[in-house]
Amino acid sequence: MVAAARRRAHRADRDVGVRIGCVAVAIREHAPAPARPGEAGQNGGMPAPTAPEPPPRPTESPEAHPTRVAIVGAGAVGSTFAFGLLLSGLASEILLVDANARRAEGEAMDLLHAVPFAKTARVWSGPLEECGGAAITVIAAGAAQKPGETRLDLVRKNAAIFRQIVPAVASANPGGIIVVATNPVDVLAYLTYRISGLPSARVIGSGTILDTSRFRMLLAEHYGVDPRSVHAYIAGEHGDSEVPVWSAANIAGMPLADFGRANGIGHDQGSLQRIFESTRDAAYQIIERKGATSYAVAAGLVRIVEAILRDQSTVLSVSSLICDYYGIDNVYLSVPTVLGRGGVERTLRLAMSAEEASGLRQSAELLRATIDTLELDPS
Ligand code: NAD
Repeated sequence: MVAAARRRAHRADRDVGVRIGCVAVAIREHAPAPARPGEAGQNGGMPAPTAPEPPPRPTESPEAHPTRVAIVGAGAVGSTFAFGLLLSGLASEILLVDANARRAEGEAMDLLHAVPFAKTARVWSGPLEECGGAAITVIAAGAAQKPGETRLDLVRKNAAIFRQIVPAVASANPGGIIVVATNPVDVLAYLTYRISGLPSARVIGSGTILDTSRFRMLLAEHYGVDPRSVHAYIAGEHGDSEVPVWSAANIAGMPLADFGRANGIGHDQGSLQRIFESTRDAAYQIIERKGATSYAVAAGLVRIVEAILRDQSTVLSVSSLICDYYGIDNVYLSVPTVLGRGGVERTLRLAMSAEEASGLRQSAELLRATIDTLELDPS
C-alpha cells in the first residue's frame, strides 16, 4: 500500500501527506536524480536487470479533456444520465461504454441527434480504454434489482463485473475521478477504491443523493414548500439500513416541529415515519411498476458531475470513505460531503441524536459485513 501511495504522489523531493485507508501518513518523497548529459540514466546507460517494468503510461489525461465524461453501462441509468448530462451542457464530450457495444452505439447515435436541440457536445461509443482522458468516469454497469430483490443481493454479480471494469478504467485514467452508481453502491464504491489504487477523494458513490432528494420532496409536499427550501439528509447505506437525520432537518433554518407549529401543519411521529418509509421503499415501489428507476438517479448524477466540473464545493449526500465518524471507520457510506474539482474535499459531521448515531453505526456494520464477503486483502 505504501509503495502504491508513493507512486501516486507527485515526483518531487518533499514530505507528502497520503491517506492509506483511514490513516494519514507522511512520506518522504525523493525525486529521481536527473540523468547527466550523455547518460541514459543512473546506471551508466545500462538497463538495470532487476528493475520492474514501469506501468503503461496513459496516452491521455483528464487535463487535456477537462469536461469529458465517460459512462460505463449504457442501460436505463447510464443512458438517462447521458441524456441529462447532454441537456445540462456541462460536458463537451460524452463517451458511452457497454458490454453490449451495439447498445452503446445506438444510444450514442440517438443522443447525438439531440445535440442541435441541446448544447454542443461530442457523443460517441467506444471501448473502456477511451475512458483515458475523462475528467469523470461514471459506472452504471451491471445487473439491476429485480422485483423483491434487495440491493445487497446484487453484490456478488456486480462485484465480479467491477473486478473487470475498474482496473481497466484506473489504468487508462489514473488521474481521473470515478463515480459509482451501480448497486449496492456503497459496497461497490469501496471495492472500486480498494482495487483502483486511486486516492479515496477520487472515488465517490452516488450514495443517498437519491434518497435525500426523495426525502426532501416528500417533506416539501407535507409542509407545503419548495423542496429546494427543505434541508434534510438521509445518511448511511443507500438501502434498507439508511438513516433519516431528523435532528438536522429544517426549513429556512427552522426545525421541522417549529415550522409545523408556526404554519398550522401537523407534525406527528406517525406522519414523519410514513415519510421516511416512503423514502426508503421508493425504489421497490417504482421497480414494481416500471421495472427500473432512472430519472431521479440520473438527475442526481448530473448534480454530482456539476459540483465536480465546476469546482463548486457543494454539499451533497454521497458515499465516500468514512473515517473516525461517530465511531465508524473504513467503510463507504453517505453523510453530507463537500464535492469540488478534486472530488471529495471533506465530510461534514452532522449533529445527530444518540439514536441516529446508533442507526448510522448499524448501517456501517451491515456494509462492513457485506464488504467482508468480497474477501479483499486486509487494508
Ligand atoms: P440495465 O440492465 O438497464 O443496464 C446495465 C447495463 O450494464 C447494461 O446495458 C449492460 O449491458 C451493462 N453491462 C453489464 N456488464 C457490463 C460490463 N462488464 N461492462 C460494461 N457494461 C456492462 O440496468 P440499470 O437499470 O441501468 O441499472 C444499472 C445499475 O444501477 C444497477 O446496479 C442498479 O441497481 C443501479 N441503480 C443505482 C441507483 C442509485 O441510486 N445508485 C439507482 C438506480 C439504479
